[in-house]
Amino acid sequence: MSTTTLQSATKRAAEALDVAGLRRQFPILGRAARDRPLVYLDNAATSQKPQAVIDALLRFYTEDCSNIHRGAHLLGQRASEAYDAARVRVQRFLGAGSDSEIIFVRGTTEAINLVAQAFGTRHLEPGQEIIISTLEHHANIVPWQMLCQRRGTRLRIVPVDETGQLVMDAYERLLGPRTGLVAVTHASNALGTVTPLREIIALAHRQGVPVLVDGAQAVPHRRVDVSQLDCDFYAFSGHKVFGPTGIGVLYAKRRWLEAMPPYQGGGGMISSVRFQGTTYADPPHKFEAGTPHIAGAIALGAAIDFLDQYSGRAIEEYEQQLLEYATQSLASVPGLRIIGTAPDKVPILSFVLQGIHPHDVGTILDRYGIATRTGHHCAQPLMERFGVPATTRASLAMYNTHHEIDALIDALHKVNEVFR
Ligand SMILES: *Cc1c(COP(=O)(O)O)cnc(C)c1O
Repeated sequence: MSTTTLQSATKRAAEALDVAGLRRQFPILGRAARDRPLVYLDNAATSQKPQAVIDALLRFYTEDCSNIHRGAHLLGQRASEAYDAARVRVQRFLGAGSDSEIIFVRGTTEAINLVAQAFGTRHLEPGQEIIISTLEHHANIVPWQMLCQRRGTRLRIVPVDETGQLVMDAYERLLGPRTGLVAVTHASNALGTVTPLREIIALAHRQGVPVLVDGAQAVPHRRVDVSQLDCDFYAFSGHKVFGPTGIGVLYAKRRWLEAMPPYQGGGGMISSVRFQGTTYADPPHKFEAGTPHIAGAIALGAAIDFLDQYSGRAIEEYEQQLLEYATQSLASVPGLRIIGTAPDKVPILSFVLQGIHPHDVGTILDRYGIATRTGHHCAQPLMERFGVPATTRASLAMYNTHHEIDALIDALHKVNEVFR
């Protein structure tokens, strides 16, 4: 498709979603960076926050601030109700059967560590294998390596092909009687690859193997239904889906939550405590020791409400148009190679410019007010697979525009002028 045709298709999809109106909800997008309009293309690291989320945080601290579940007073009641309501919002957002299957944690990292600790210690035996993939973020590698050291389990790795997609034949061969768990990403933060989750889960379940999904990069872009997926665990971070930092979610099937021991001990997770022994509360409370990030959970609920105002299909169609436009535009930059060309991707573009260090690319882009990320993106084994130490990554959200892609391309031409 010609760039002009692609540009008009992108414009039409932007109008269908009302991107202009959507942008006005994000106060930071109207600000300047380095005396230029901010072009924020670092959404895979963290997304910006709409006014509704900022207001929810402010409202909690100015009107409802209290601890939850233990206060015999009005504010305690309000805070508890709002916190419980946020859990129900997350439940509906993920299509979970019950709000008791939703655990509030700090983020994807803590969610995976919780499963590695609680599930790994109880349900994995020495000699059993955990299958992960080359695409994984360090958060879905290191907790398993730590578990392997403790439990004597082993890691097996599903390779990726030249496009950055999983090699499914290899996955099938790795699955076997020794497999105790499959832990795989829904979408790669470094390349954008969307993995064939349904197939991955069905193949694992055929062998009776449970599956954990790292959903950090999927929930901002696709509507997820954990009941349809039938995954056993699903993790995501609030801050990547327009919510605050410090709050995240672990979905787990009720039967696992009942079978697993607690992750941390303390207040809020017990039924009764005596020095002779303690009994635990039912899930989800069993896995939420101590005072949680109450304001964060409530504001995550507001982020979900915000997202729910828009059609999931319109978001996906627009982002896919924008991804296609950006992919084609980047191809016009001399010496540029995109890493990660799988047919099914969320709007993430990782690239290298021949002979120029990604860090220098990022620094020059920043002078033009363009925020990208450079480095290994917490996916060092994946960088190694593609023979690069680092890339520059432009990661898009539903509020980005084709004008911003044009600004990126112009600035990349400038980078080339500086270095060639
Ligand atoms: C960001 C990210 C994580 C880690 O999330 P935190 O919010 O830092 O805990 C894990 N996996 C993927 C795919 C990510 O993008």
